[in-house]
Amino acid sequence: MRKNIVAGNWKMNNDLSETEELLAQLKQHLEQEPQAEVIVAPSFTNLYHVFQSLAGTPVKVAAQNMHESENGAFTGEVSAKMLTSVGVKYVILGHSERRAIFKETDELLAKKVTSALKNDLQVIFCVGEELDQRKSDNHFNVVEEQLSKGLFNISKEDWKNVVIAYEPVWAIGTGETASPEQAQEMHAFIRKTVSEKFGSEIAEEVSILYGGSVKPANAKEIFAKEDVDGGLIGGASLKAEDFLAIVHSF
Ligand code: 13P
Repeated sequence: MRKNIVAGNWKMNNDLSETEELLAQLKQHLEQEPQAEVIVAPSFTNLYHVFQSLAGTPVKVAAQNMHESENGAFTGEVSAKMLTSVGVKYVILGHSERRAIFKETDELLAKKVTSALKNDLQVIFCVGEELDQRKSDNHFNVVEEQLSKGLFNISKEDWKNVVIAYEPVWAIGTGETASPEQAQEMHAFIRKTVSEKFGSEIAEEVSILYGGSVKPANAKEIFAKEDVDGGLIGGASLKAEDFLAIVHSF
């Protein structure tokens, strides 16, 4: 039985005091046992603080990025091992903002995935098409290529440490959500693609999250779809009340 997951991607928001405020509100309302695994992804500077603050709660900590090398002369970068050493369990890789703004390629992402898994980090691997790609009916090809080039060189054993997030770029931060049917259609396609390459057992077990303007008002409907196993939440994860309402949408 695959896991339901709700992850909050805080992006480049929240300094230390804002982080403390959000944590206090989250913890206050966490007494209701979540029906999903809950993950938060703060900035690098707040990872250790968040990990310590959430000790004793079921909430896990994710990083938003990492470098593919183990260590060395890479000024300004952070390795997988550094992340695990401060309590980080997951890393988000392949987010469309990393692909578009920071020019991360599928080839680079494949290296990052390898390094993360080797260093005992679980990977939340993001895929998703841009608006013109959907309009030209290329969205399935785009997602299939992102999966095969960025993720599919892992071994069968690695899959227990992988989560996929489908985030259509046109739905991120725009207020425009994919319809539950559009999300289901792509999630089913992703599962079929995994199944064709790695077998149905692995495909049935991998959690596939939807991301893109998820809010308390639409989460239930999206999460109800058969192949949607949770969400990767941006804007709405910055408000404890909204994030927890989404967490409790299962
Ligand atoms: P929004 O929820 O703000 O649309 O962001 C989604 C996202 O990019 C999560 O990684």
